[in-house]
Amino acid sequence: MITHPVTESPRSSAARREKAPLSHVLHLEITDEDIGVITFDRPGTAVNIFDEAALDELNLALDAVRSLKPRALIFTSAKPTIFIAGADLDSLANSTDERLEHLIRKGQEVFQRIAALPLPTLAAIHGACLGGGLELALACDQRIVSDSHSTRLGLPETLLGIIPAWGGSTRLPRLIGLPAALKMILSGKLLTAKRARRAGMVDAVVPKERLMEAAEKMVFEPPTRKGHFVTNNPFSRRVIGRLAKRRLLKKTRGNYPALKAAVDVVSRGASGDLVKSFGREERAVLALARGPEAANLMRLFRLQEQAKKFRYDTSLDTKSLSVIEQTAVVGSGVMGSGIAQWFSAKGLPVILRDLDRERVAVGMESIRKLYQGAVRKGILTEHEAMRAMDLVAPSAEAVSLERCDLVVEAAVEDLEIKKKIFADLCGRTRPDTILATNTSALPIGELCEAEGITHPERIIGLHFFNPVSRMKLVEVVVTDHTSPEVVERTLAFVRKIGKLPVVVKDSPGFLVNRILMPYLIEAGQLVDRGYSPKLIDEAMLDFGMPMGPLRLLDEVGLDVAAHVAVTMREAFGDRFELPRVLNRLVKAEHFGRKSGEGFYVYEKGRATKPTVSTDSETEMDRAEIADHLAGLMAKEAMLCLEEGVGRDADDIDFAMVMGTGFAPFRGGPITWDRVRN
Ligand code: NAD
Repeated sequence: MITHPVTESPRSSAARREKAPLSHVLHLEITDEDIGVITFDRPGTAVNIFDEAALDELNLALDAVRSLKPRALIFTSAKPTIFIAGADLDSLANSTDERLEHLIRKGQEVFQRIAALPLPTLAAIHGACLGGGLELALACDQRIVSDSHSTRLGLPETLLGIIPAWGGSTRLPRLIGLPAALKMILSGKLLTAKRARRAGMVDAVVPKERLMEAAEKMVFEPPTRKGHFVTNNPFSRRVIGRLAKRRLLKKTRGNYPALKAAVDVVSRGASGDLVKSFGREERAVLALARGPEAANLMRLFRLQEQAKKFRYDTSLDTKSLSVIEQTAVVGSGVMGSGIAQWFSAKGLPVILRDLDRERVAVGMESIRKLYQGAVRKGILTEHEAMRAMDLVAPSAEAVSLERCDLVVEAAVEDLEIKKKIFADLCGRTRPDTILATNTSALPIGELCEAEGITHPERIIGLHFFNPVSRMKLVEVVVTDHTSPEVVERTLAFVRKIGKLPVVVKDSPGFLVNRILMPYLIEAGQLVDRGYSPKLIDEAMLDFGMPMGPLRLLDEVGLDVAAHVAVTMREAFGDRFELPRVLNRLVKAEHFGRKSGEGFYVYEKGRATKPTVSTDSETEMDRAEIADHLAGLMAKEAMLCLEEGVGRDADDIDFAMVMGTGFAPFRGGPITWDRVRN
């Protein structure tokens, strides 16, 4: 095998070398079988991304391929879990119009060069193949992927407020058909190897160890392609596009301009002139990049990346801190079982404890159902699910927890009960075992000061959201007693289990519930004033919330919400005053969906009609209601900022989007409020 550093390809000159910075993000080899292999391997990082330098290097590599004339060309990556993770977002987010246009054109041109090569091409993919990475793969004649869990393929650009513009919006519908391409691009979802194969996006799935061997063989076999004339012809694509737009409008209520642009560009690009379609990709991104939605969504993406790396006390040497491996969860109800399932799914042994065998059995059954769901969705194999489930040890007795590094308490929301549980835990754990509570709103500092508590510096809040398997955010609540070491160990743990931490100060309701509560309460007050639940909920759906506030109250449970509101009222006063309607519903034991009735009647789990009668004439229209209610969240968010409950506006916005689904394209309550005023 002969290796050619691409910047010194046989035809490279000093002038060309100057133009292409010597970043060496890829190298070209020619195998003994005369196959060119371009391997992406950005130095000093586990991730391959495309920035301009990488595109330049790829261009040079293609020059070398043209002059060396191998029999075929394969693209691959040397990274353990990444093929190519996409374009460098920083360079996109901070670009001028001219620069962005230049970058889009360059990507399109380089990938088009690959598509036009007079030799067979193949992308051998192991790990994440996203955005620009997949667009490169789509420009090849074939794609073959490893069956590894880390292999995921997708075009998530619309989640960032833009659309694929390096040929992805044009090539994907031609490869897999317009309906499937629209589904993938509009959802931004990533496909596993198996699903990508089923969608017709990849030509073969092989074990990782056999990837290159299979690639070298397959590259010479002409791929069999399904035609998509029925869906992609000019008439059908217009009809499909129109239907997709109608469905989209219903779902997004006119928000998210990138989705509308994607339908346009992808449906028009499904057949016809390639270059014209590239032009539409480019114009759409240039227009979208100027809007606030893309800026807000890209900022949130960056905040997400920052959360993954966040350090609380940078003076600590994290390598010297002991790692959490053995865990226990106290309380096997909704949250406890969800938390235990998540821990076990991440390979951590967990003891699940409740008061008696019946209750533990209920928790274990919930866990089993979660695993069944994961198998059904193809996330886990039957065998993997069984192995993970075996990591959960049910316990109805007060067993020794000496081996545990972390215990999470998720028992009922009652401070006195929690104090007793913590005092008991102190007697049955090591002094360095971290004791965490999943309380929604109770003051954790008081737990630290309760009778029987030893080493309060290891007590911390670890507030998971419901449902644990779907909600990525975890509030890490730091009390005046919690030591920096414990915070760092907890943060490392949150990262290890794939959740996103936000560090908050110990204060009633912490950050997310504190900001959400005045909004939920005021929605109830509006019902007291004669507004209909449906009008209020619709107003907030228009605003971009995933669910209206009264439906959300029914989901949370009106008894639970009333309990949280009382805790908050004791701490903060009248703005947390319970609405009359909430009191009335709770007294009547109408707790929301779980009891079949709350603000709405539930039939087979679905909200049917509202239960409260309302006036026909009210002062505010939908837009004013939304402005008023979201304004309350913004106001409370500013108070949290002033009081230091959240570290800064970024953290607060991020937590509200991740924890409540606050309309992501609006950037979070603080950003939204700044734009509004
Ligand atoms: P739940 O009522 O479903 O479960 C609580 C469990 O704790 C019950 O199984 C109960 O038997 C058990 N329990 C009570 N006393 C115990 C003891 N001394 N030892 C062991 N187990 C005991 O409640 P949940 O909804 O899972 O909430 C648990 C905690 O999580 C609460 O603090 C709640 O505020 C918080 N939380 C709830 C949600 C939510 O949406 N449900 C979200 C975030 C946080």
